[in-house]
Amino acid sequence: MAEHASEVDQSKPSIARVYDYLLGGKDNFAADRVIGDHFMVNLPGSVAIAHTNRAALTRAVREISLTAGVRQFIDMGSGLPTADNVHQVAQRSAPQTRVVYVDSDPIVLAHGRALLEEDERTCVVQADVRDPEAIRRHQDTRALIDFDQPVGVILSAVLHHVNDDEDPGAIVRYWRDQVAPGSHFFISHFRSGENPETVEAERTLQETFGRGRWRTTGEISALFDGLEILDPGVVTCRDWRPDPAEGSSRFGSETRDATLWEQLIVAGLARKP
Ligand code: SAM
Repeated sequence: MAEHASEVDQSKPSIARVYDYLLGGKDNFAADRVIGDHFMVNLPGSVAIAHTNRAALTRAVREISLTAGVRQFIDMGSGLPTADNVHQVAQRSAPQTRVVYVDSDPIVLAHGRALLEEDERTCVVQADVRDPEAIRRHQDTRALIDFDQPVGVILSAVLHHVNDDEDPGAIVRYWRDQVAPGSHFFISHFRSGENPETVEAERTLQETFGRGRWRTTGEISALFDGLEILDPGVVTCRDWRPDPAEGSSRFGSETRDATLWEQLIVAGLARKP
């Protein structure tokens, strides 16, 4: 395993590895599976939430690349490599696309490095999304991202791991002020259902990781401060520009209504004017 792998503590669950487990991945340890199983038993929609989020992310990256013509991405809280990673989706339509992956979990760096060894247009930075200045100044970010050109800023399923007193809105505003007009921001986020399931899910995340916040649609929309939210607004991941062609895919959209669980994760795409 690559450098930093020694920092990986297998005895404690990690957000990245629990999420990998929910998505059916293999990069997780017993401690992660205990929490993942807890979610699956007590919150049986957890797997659906992970899949519907991932599907929306894939569609958003495709849109940002194909429709907006953006050729560089910063994917913060990127998670472990899975089926369709941001660089693979974007490079399918535009092979020259450059991607900086950022995650605080050392296991992401280890696995990411292995995946990206051959790809000079892509890198993984181990950093904390709550310290955007460190990400901005990192030599790999400066090498791959041209801040005079539009950037695709991806904050998929990560800002709900930032507590209120850590000001998730300030993180988005930092990047808004750094990137060029025409940049796009994709945010997906746990949405409060004001129901017992949400309360229980929030409690489990706080007890396990000390972080995890389900926010209302209003609070999530406010994260896009100063940006132009594009159609269809902040809606469930499932309803965010569904692609009927994906109907049969494991991560895909189908025509049925969103379940209670699928309503607990929403997404939005915005453009810097
Ligand atoms: N973005 C991917 C997606 O939407 O499929 C992965 C989402 S996963 C639920 C959340 C990821 O955010 C994990 O990999 C976790 O390590 C990372 N993360 C959580 N808090 C973070 C922080 N403060 N800084 C950087 N990464 C963080």
